[in-house]
Amino acid sequence: MVRTRFAPSPTGSLHIGGVRTALYSWALAKKHGGKFLLRIEDTDQERKIPGTIHFIITELQWLGLNFDEGPTTDELKAVGEPTEGLNLASITSSYGPFIQSLRKEIYSTYAEELIENGYAYRCDCTPDMLERERREQTLRREKPGYSGRCRYRNVPKDSPHAVRLKLPENFTVTADDAIRGKIRFENPPLRDPVLLKSDGFPTYHLAVVVDDHLMQISHVLRGEEWIATFPIHWYLYDLFGWSKPVFAHLPVILGEDGKKLSKRHGAVTTAELRDAGFLPQAILNSLCLVGWSHPEGKELFEISEFVEHFSLERVHASSGILSFPKMLKFNHEHIKALEPPEFLGY
Ligand code: GLU
Repeated sequence: MVRTRFAPSPTGSLHIGGVRTALYSWALAKKHGGKFLLRIEDTDQERKIPGTIHFIITELQWLGLNFDEGPTTDELKAVGEPTEGLNLASITSSYGPFIQSLRKEIYSTYAEELIENGYAYRCDCTPDMLERERREQTLRREKPGYSGRCRYRNVPKDSPHAVRLKLPENFTVTADDAIRGKIRFENPPLRDPVLLKSDGFPTYHLAVVVDDHLMQISHVLRGEEWIATFPIHWYLYDLFGWSKPVFAHLPVILGEDGKKLSKRHGAVTTAELRDAGFLPQAILNSLCLVGWSHPEGKELFEISEFVEHFSLERVHASSGILSFPKMLKFNHEHIKALEPPEFLGY
C-alpha cells in the first residue's frame, strides 16, 4: 500500500515549494490507489502561527489536493484552531492524532527507549552554558557543536533536561534516495543532536522518524533542504530496528534567473497566486513541470494526466525552474477550457 504524507509546519502561508511536495506526494498515492496524509508538524511552538493549520487545509482543499487521513475537527479544536468552512467529514484518523503537539507522550516513550538501550542520554546543559561553549569554540577557531559534556553524566530523570542522540565518533551513513541514488555521509551533520527538548516537545528529527514509522508511510517526499540531516533519520531507523520508507528529496525550485525562488520573483504563496487570478489547475500544471517531465514532452495537461504518468523515476535531481510567464499562459488555457459557471465557482 502506497502511503504518502505532506507534513508542513504551521509557521506561515503555504509556499509554492510546499505545494509541489504536496502535489507529488498526492499524485504518487492516487496513482497507486494509496492514501495521502496530512500531518501538522507544530513542535516548534515559538514559530507556530495561530490559524495556520486552518489556512493550510483550506488551501489544500482549494487546490484539490485532498487528503484521506489527517487532523479531525476535534484535533483542530484541541489546538485552538478554527474549523469553519473545512470539509473534514470524510477524513479518517486511525493513525492519528495528526497534529504533533497532541502526540508528545508518544515521542517521549521512544526517546526513553533509546536512553535505555544506550543510544541517547539526558542533558541538563543550560542555554547559557551552550552559548559559552559555542563562543569558546569560535575563539579557538573550532567548528561549533555540542561538546558531549553530558554523555557520561547521569542526569536524573526528574530534573529538567533534554534528550540527545549519541552519535558515534566514526559516523558514516550511506542512505538511499529514489532520485539521487546512494548518498554517502562521512561526518555527522550535528554533534549529538537534541531529540527531545526540555519543554517536552520533540525536535523534527525524532518526530519525523517516529511518525513516518507509526503512520506506515511508504514514501517520504520532501524538499532537498532536508538532505543535510537525512543521515540522522536513517541512523534512527536502524537504532529502532524499523524498516525504512522510500525517501525522495525533491529538487530546489528556482526562479527564471536561476536564483532560489523568493518574493523577488513574484507571487510565491497560494494566497498571492489566487489573488493574482491564477486557477488551481494552472498553479498545479506549472508545478508538475518543476522537477518532472511528461513522457511525451507535453506541457499543458490536466492533473489527472499527471497522476497517470507520474513516477519518481521521472523526477530529476537538478533544480527546476518555475516560470511565471508559462503559468500565465497555462492559466489562460485552463480558463478557456472551463464552462462559465465552473469559472465563476473560483
Ligand atoms: N515540517 C517540515 C517542513 O515544514 C517537513 C519536512 C518533511 O516533510 O519531512 O518543511
